[in-house]
Amino acid sequence: VFFNFSVLTVLCLYFLSQLHNIALAELLAVPAGLLVGNIAVYTIHRFPLHHRYKLIGNFTFRNHAQWHHQFYTNEMIVYDSPKDFYILFFPPGVVLGFTFVFLPICYYLMKDILSTNTVFLTLFMYALYFILYEVFHYVSHLPETHWALHFFPFRHMRTHHLLHHTPALMAKYNFNIVFPLCDYLCGTVYKEDRT
Ligand SMILES: [Zn+2]
Ligand SMILES: [Zn+2]
Repeated sequence: VFFNFSVLTVLCLYFLSQLHNIALAELLAVPAGLLVGNIAVYTIHRFPLHHRYKLIGNFTFRNHAQWHHQFYTNEMIVYDSPKDFYILFFPPGVVLGFTFVFLPICYYLMKDILSTNTVFLTLFMYALYFILYEVFHYVSHLPETHWALHFFPFRHMRTHHLLHHTPALMAKYNFNIVFPLCDYLCGTVYKEDRT
C-alpha cells in the first residue's frame, strides 16, 4: 500500500511540476482525464476482471473475480486487519506496469499532437484517477459506521460497490468505483430497491 501510494503521489507531483503558464483551454485535460479514467475503470472491471479471455490469460480474472470477490462478499465486505489489504489494493506490479509501460505509451502517443501542458496534465489526471480508485475502493470496504462515510460520495459509492460484491450480481452490475457514470450510460446500475 505504501509502495503504491508513494509511486502514484510522486508521479502526480512530477507531472504537476512540468506545467508552466497553463492556458484555460488546456484545463480541458481535467474533465477529459476524469472521463477517460471512468471509461477505463468500467471497461477493465466489466470485462477482463470478470471474464476469462484466452488472449490475456487468467491473471486479471483470478485476482479479481476469484480472489477479491471470494474474500469479500456483500455479507462480509469489511476488511479485518491490514493483512487483508493484500487482496484489497492493486498488486505493486500493476502500478509498475502503469508507470513504466502505460504512461510512457500515452506520452509518446500524445506528445506530437497536444501541447506539453496538456500532455502532462493528462498524465497527472491518469495517476490521480488511479489514486482515486484505490481510495474509493478502500473506503468501500470500511465498516458502515466509519466516520469517512459521512462524506456523501464515499457513502454512495460504498453502497454501489457493496451491491457489486453480491455474487449473483458481480458480473453484471455496478462496475464503476469512483463515480457511476459509465454504469448509468450502459444501464448497469443496480440499486437496492430493485430487489
Ligand atoms: Zn471490492
Ligand atoms: Zn468486481
